[in-house]
Amino acid sequence: MSVLSNKVAIITGASSGIGCATAKLFAREGACVVLAARRKPELDALVDEITRAGGCAVALAGDVREEAFAQALVELAVGHFGGLDIAFNNAGTVGEMGATPELPLAAWEETLRTNLSSAFLGAKYQLPAMLERNGGSLIFTSTFVGYTVGLPGMAAYAASKAGLIGLTQSLAAEFGARGVRVNALLPGGTDTPLGRAFASTPEALAFVQGLHALKRMASPEEIAKSALYLASDASSFTTGTALLADGGVS
Ligand code: NDP
Repeated sequence: MSVLSNKVAIITGASSGIGCATAKLFAREGACVVLAARRKPELDALVDEITRAGGCAVALAGDVREEAFAQALVELAVGHFGGLDIAFNNAGTVGEMGATPELPLAAWEETLRTNLSSAFLGAKYQLPAMLERNGGSLIFTSTFVGYTVGLPGMAAYAASKAGLIGLTQSLAAEFGARGVRVNALLPGGTDTPLGRAFASTPEALAFVQGLHALKRMASPEEIAKSALYLASDASSFTTGTALLADGGVS
């Protein structure tokens, strides 16, 4: 029996990178997956791929910054598959980088909106659906940046992602007694469009690789395995934690 049999999982940021790899892995492990991102063609292609492989998937294109979208995703999971057990709130952006004195307030707020407020909105609608099933696993994709290493020019990104750790601990304490586990996943540099945009020159790539004890970037499939651990019963006594999958950064 696959580890996510009979489970329903929302995965945001599924059109690319870590979310896409996680969607495929969760579906292979038996979950019915509800895929979200703004780019509909990429989502439709992923639904096709999962379905052709014998899996179970639907998608909804939209923007995680919008409250109506957070609500619609949960309604889709409940309406289509009968409930919700797992939510991997993974959509994110590096946002505008640069020296803090030059960073416009609007850019700071936009990064927080995409990375942090979207997680609040997701949780706001996902938690009641999980409570209906007497439990669940809520996961937020944070980052090693601002946790194991501070990097110049990334204040808004680091702050938004560190906020997810506070959200994680609060929700874990608030909902643990009712069976919902809440954890943050902290990937290191990962070979995705987002990761490659940061490591866009040979020098920048070497810098990112050199940050990690393993001296390379992760593949999205490796990070997906950590998401599977947090989603599954393998982590049944793990909640409120910040799980590093950062290849060793100190
Ligand atoms: P990708 O660029 O491959 O994926 C980002 C995903 O987020 C896309 O599917 C994108 O979809 C979605 N997304 C972004 N903004 C929105 C939005 N407003 N509404 C809906 N979906 C949105 O990058 P990764 O896979 O690397 O990133 C996934 C997560 O991992 C992010 O939260 C990132 O911060 C985090 N992370 C990444 C690291 C790395 O080195 N790559 C390291 C540590 C953490 P679309 O454009 O179709 O909307």
